[in-house]
Amino acid sequence: MRLNHIKEYNREIRAWLLKVFSLAATIPNDQLVRKACPVCNSSESVFFANNDHLNYEQCSQCGLVYMNPSPSADVVAKGFQGEDALLMEYFSLINKYKTDLPLKPDPYNDDKINDIYSIKPSGRLLDVGCSVGDFLHKAKYFYAVEGVEVNPQTAAIAEQYFKVHKKSLGELSLGPVYDIVTLHQILYGVPDPAGLLRDIHGVLKEDGLLYINTPNADSYAMALYRGKTNHLYGYTTLNVFNERSLTVLARLTGFEILSFRTEWLDIYLTDLAEFYDHPDHFIHKRNCHLPNYEEKIRQEDEFHQLLKPDLGKRGNYLVAILQKNNVFSA
Ligand SMILES: [Zn+2]
Repeated sequence: MRLNHIKEYNREIRAWLLKVFSLAATIPNDQLVRKACPVCNSSESVFFANNDHLNYEQCSQCGLVYMNPSPSADVVAKGFQGEDALLMEYFSLINKYKTDLPLKPDPYNDDKINDIYSIKPSGRLLDVGCSVGDFLHKAKYFYAVEGVEVNPQTAAIAEQYFKVHKKSLGELSLGPVYDIVTLHQILYGVPDPAGLLRDIHGVLKEDGLLYINTPNADSYAMALYRGKTNHLYGYTTLNVFNERSLTVLARLTGFEILSFRTEWLDIYLTDLAEFYDHPDHFIHKRNCHLPNYEEKIRQEDEFHQLLKPDLGKRGNYLVAILQKNNVFSA
């Protein structure tokens, strides 16, 4: 069962999110710094959205949506390394509800595996930001897998099953030995995405693949909910990519894009009603205070699966496959 369909889980996440919003409201302005676009370095940008506390701007050159001003890179890094108590609370919640290990997936029907498997069906795979090892448990059936995780609490769980490197990629000297690197929901919270892709470039073999799954700035959900979209709430999302900004990032760091797709509509009728009628109570995908919310969401998810709406470039998550090519251009 998907976690979103479990009432207790949603209630705990909603309560946690309310604490996140309170914290975002108390971040002092002097701890926020204005910056140029972390992809193309342009300082031309236009207002994109406000999440009640923090502003997001869109780069006029590459189209990246990024928090500006934002906390310094140092503050963000310490948070992920365990100094952010709220983030640690989130990981505990995930551990509490994610109790069973995934079974061997059908590589042609599991979207995340299929994207990679259809190009490279074997080899060494490194999951950067592997958290508790969810993806590694699926990928292990097809690849020789390892993880990178700087958070001590989640790394300890993944380490029970897999080899986990517990430093940031740039501090490790792994060499160009991997066929595939994966980034699941990592790029959005990284202060220097170009630096991370350069580090990944350094650990991939020639023609190695990089799989990226990250929030999409061009989604229908973002267009509708703006600062209330799940990707912008709180204080942890620094970058929201679209095809254009990810293409620029790839070119600057020695990759070519092999494919793009998007996934998840993430717009539910029950959420829509709350967004318009009770905006003060609305939290995108977490309106569990509404009667039968989880059952309604489950039915709508089923309907979306059945209907398979053509989301084109407008799904809530962007999925890209990149290939190392050693051509560095703007
Ligand atoms: Zn830019």
